[in-house]
Amino acid sequence: MAEVKIGVLGCSGRMGQAVLRAVAERQDAAIAGGVARSLIGQDVGEVAGLPRHGVVVTNDAEALFRASDAVIDFTLPQATGGYANLAASTGTAYVVGTTGLGEAEQAAVDEAARFVPVVQAANFSLGVNLLAALVREAARVLDEDFDIEIAEMHHRHKLDAPSGTALLLGRAAAAGRGVNLEDVSDRGRDGHTGERVPGHIGFAALRGGDVAGDHTVMFAGPEERIELTHKAGNRMIFARGAVKAALWAVGKDAGKYGMAQVLGLD
Ligand code: NAD
Repeated sequence: MAEVKIGVLGCSGRMGQAVLRAVAERQDAAIAGGVARSLIGQDVGEVAGLPRHGVVVTNDAEALFRASDAVIDFTLPQATGGYANLAASTGTAYVVGTTGLGEAEQAAVDEAARFVPVVQAANFSLGVNLLAALVREAARVLDEDFDIEIAEMHHRHKLDAPSGTALLLGRAAAAGRGVNLEDVSDRGRDGHTGERVPGHIGFAALRGGDVAGDHTVMFAGPEERIELTHKAGNRMIFARGAVKAALWAVGKDAGKYGMAQVLGLD
């Protein structure tokens, strides 16, 4: 079987290392190389606790794109815009896991999708993508008598809040209700907030310890409450999903795809 060559952006980070391990688990994929801001010059295998691979971590992203069939990005929002441009200019399939993108960075990702297949997901796990489908259905069935609140918890190093996954679940709930999340979201309450607005979707972000990612969507109605929860045991679930997305994307037409399509949930 021909191995698909996968490049890893942010390979020294928590997710990048997990992606290196997830690629190494597979027979049909191989590590093309890794780019990061730290551990430059170290063997990419050793960075992830694997045997030596014979390729070192560099800061040459363009060379990585040229050496890869698909590139997976778990870095920082500021980096992702430039990498999206490189995906387009080198004609390389691109998988974006970085969350917290600003408008300009998101526009660069969307623009790249005009030229190459791009899979973007705030969460690459099977469980969360299934949860999103369940949330959408619950929101469709339950009217505004049921207040929707989304609580998430992540490790103390996480930089953005609410998590990209919480927003993904919020968008699923809003879609179930036929509204735009931007019009109804309450992002953090503090002080004299006044009463809850009917139909709004609330977010609460907890940070601490080494939690890989917990999300609960509550539908709080009169005298009853439904809670749908996903708990990530380990970030390998995201890494394996991102690698699956990369293999799926190679050879696809240019366009923007989501994890629901990769998993056949759409
Ligand atoms: P981290 O801080 O552990 O790692 C970030 C990595 O990016 C490091 O290797 C760093 O050297 C590198 N980096 C920083 N700037 C760079 C640049 N300009 N070019 C190349 N590399 C650069 O962070 P993390 O916990 O691995 O998370 C990374 C991102 O992935 C975050 O946005 C996080 O929210 C997101 N994430 C997404 C999912 C998902 O399923 N989509 C899951 C977990 C985390």
